[in-house]
Amino acid sequence: MGNMVESTPFEEKPSLGNLSILTKVDKLRELIGTKVALPQLVVVGDQSSGKSSVLEGLTNFGFPRDAELCTRYATQITCRREKEEIINVSIIPHDEASAGEQARIKKFYRSLKAMTPESLAEVFTEANEVMGIKSSTKATLPDGTTLPAFSEHILKIEKLGPDENHFTVIDVPGIFRKETEGITTEADIELVRNMVKKYMKDPRTIILAIMPSNVDPATQEILKLAKEADPLMTRTMAVLTKPDLAIERVMQQIAIDHVNGKRGDLVLGYYIVKNRGPDDAHKTLKQGQADEKKFFSESPWSSLRNTERAGMEALKKRVRDLLTELIKKEFPKLKTDVARELSTLKSDLNKMGPSRDHQDAQRAYLNKICQSFQALVRDALNAYYAGNKIFAERHDLRLITRIVEMNEIYSDTMLAHGHTRPFSSDSIPKEETVSRISTPVGSADRARRAPKPDDGTYPELEEILDDSLEVIEDVSDEDDIMDYIARVYRDSRGQDLGTFSNALVSTMFKEQSKNWKNITLDYVKRVIWIVHHFIFEAIKESCPDERVRDELWNGFLLEELQKAYREAISRVMFLLEVEHDGQPLTLNHYFNDALQRAQSGRLVDAIKELGSETSIRAPEGSTNKYENGIFLTHAQLHNLSFNMANSEHVQEYMHDILKSYYKVSRKRFVDVVCQQVVNYDLLHGKCNPLKIFNTEMVLELTDEQLDAIAAEDIPVKRRREKLERDISSFQEAWKVLKGSG
Ligand code: GDP
Ligand code: MG
Repeated sequence: MGNMVESTPFEEKPSLGNLSILTKVDKLRELIGTKVALPQLVVVGDQSSGKSSVLEGLTNFGFPRDAELCTRYATQITCRREKEEIINVSIIPHDEASAGEQARIKKFYRSLKAMTPESLAEVFTEANEVMGIKSSTKATLPDGTTLPAFSEHILKIEKLGPDENHFTVIDVPGIFRKETEGITTEADIELVRNMVKKYMKDPRTIILAIMPSNVDPATQEILKLAKEADPLMTRTMAVLTKPDLAIERVMQQIAIDHVNGKRGDLVLGYYIVKNRGPDDAHKTLKQGQADEKKFFSESPWSSLRNTERAGMEALKKRVRDLLTELIKKEFPKLKTDVARELSTLKSDLNKMGPSRDHQDAQRAYLNKICQSFQALVRDALNAYYAGNKIFAERHDLRLITRIVEMNEIYSDTMLAHGHTRPFSSDSIPKEETVSRISTPVGSADRARRAPKPDDGTYPELEEILDDSLEVIEDVSDEDDIMDYIARVYRDSRGQDLGTFSNALVSTMFKEQSKNWKNITLDYVKRVIWIVHHFIFEAIKESCPDERVRDELWNGFLLEELQKAYREAISRVMFLLEVEHDGQPLTLNHYFNDALQRAQSGRLVDAIKELGSETSIRAPEGSTNKYENGIFLTHAQLHNLSFNMANSEHVQEYMHDILKSYYKVSRKRFVDVVCQQVVNYDLLHGKCNPLKIFNTEMVLELTDEQLDAIAAEDIPVKRRREKLERDISSFQEAWKVLKGSG
């Protein structure tokens, strides 16, 4: 700012070079004036301090006299040399206004060839109407809302003519401290003060602080505000008005001392002007200038003659000069600013992704979400947990690992608790305990950690998971399986000779496997919960836009997902019906092997029981001299075959058949449930829930459905539109700065 202070000889008519740089800044003001600090001159002060009068003196633009008309918004006046004399009036819309509002406001444009007070008043009235502020004739809208007293749009006045010098200055509404009934409110006071502050804070703004001479500048609020915005006071210039109203000698001296630089701390100093007063309404601007000249040639003001700081003519020279200097100095920096802002805007827009205001863009957007979701599904099913960083933090989303755990727990539970009564263990070799990485304790632990499907996280699953489990009466420990078989046998004995009906096996099997339903349903529900949870979280991860996600989830996916889960449950019910309630059947040779082993085991046991231990000489060549064996007498052998024919033997035989069949059946059932319900229905099958959100679904959405899901909501749309608008303004501005604009 230091440069700005030095005065350079003022050229009444700027050189062509200057003209072009000034024109460029004017174009920039039009394009990005509200977004980038441009070198500008702003007139601020209290209401009625004489701002508009000073502006009129600087630009020769006479505001309509009606005070109410021109102080409700900032007014930018640009003078420019053109062949034809003309005045153009338009409105620069407020940055925050909506696109529609901006378009409406930009439509306002009036061109005046000859400037008469009447024609100007008319244009101003129209402009007020467009800005939607209240006037003496219109204070409310038809719907009863009161119109605001102030507007943040800017009235732009271009004054062109052969005698004009390039110059732009902005008039801001005056600060006031008292509300006026029916016109201004308490809130308006603050609004205007903030507006003034905003205009003053730009580091490239020269502040012209207007103050009447009949008060001490030291007491003026406007200087305090200026000092907040410009702490070093290097870009604030004070202009004292109404010296003719400072009648007291003391007041006059205070004003003179300020102009002389003896008081105050402004680097740019104090100027003094005398405008036409309310009584001079009939006088022309020219007459007013003549009056002013005369006024300053008289005592005590004549003492200021050599300061070149008294009178509008001196102020005008100084101010224009300052502005031109400032523009020259700041111009190169503007380039940097514009380039930086442009790249920020572009990256902001980029971050928003492509626009979604038409079908193709919406479909592409959904497809992108869908693809990233499917990638997560693929990785989760293949246990490729390096595929996405989410798997590192969220172990609950390691889908296939969680499922394998559940499978193991299911299989273990079926082994340990599937049967109603333990089989008598002596006759059949003990079932090999399946060796697992984890101990049984570990597996119980995992079962506890596995989510409870009815924990309320997903209310949408309640209806599916809630079909209540059967209540099964506990069988007392004393109720041995052999006692049970004996009961069944006695109750259903026919005339069979040492045999029993197939229906009996079926009855016993149903009783023995009645726990299966609960265990299996519990397992499948847990798996459904895990799959559902995964889908929910994976969609959250793939679709960050909450509105789109809700629409997609509630409007389209949920119903299909529920259908898939119901399908899985109904397959469980079917498999239970076949295995548990159906006719026992197996072609598995394991059944016969097991049965024969059990039978021969019983025979061996009987022989062992009857016979006595003995040893005989071992054959030639064997390592041992004797071999152990069993010795039976003929009588004992006879007794043995007798034993095998009684009913006890039939019951043992029933037990062995049941045990052999149960084991085959259990293994088959566990496999089939895992394979069909979990693997096929829930994970890999044609209509599995993980497949529901796929590109085909996106393709098949109707235009309306697509719009409902993927259209951008209003705030996002607005933001994008604003960014696009700003970018195009900044691109234009960039062209201007580079010289091609
Ligand atoms: P603004 O509200 O700050 O824009 O002030 P205006 O320029 O509209 O002036 C307010 C009133 O003060 C008007 O009636 C002007 O005629 C009057 N006024 C402005 N400057 C002077 C001046 O230097 N001397 C006298 N006597 N009156 C002035
Ligand atoms: Mg005014």
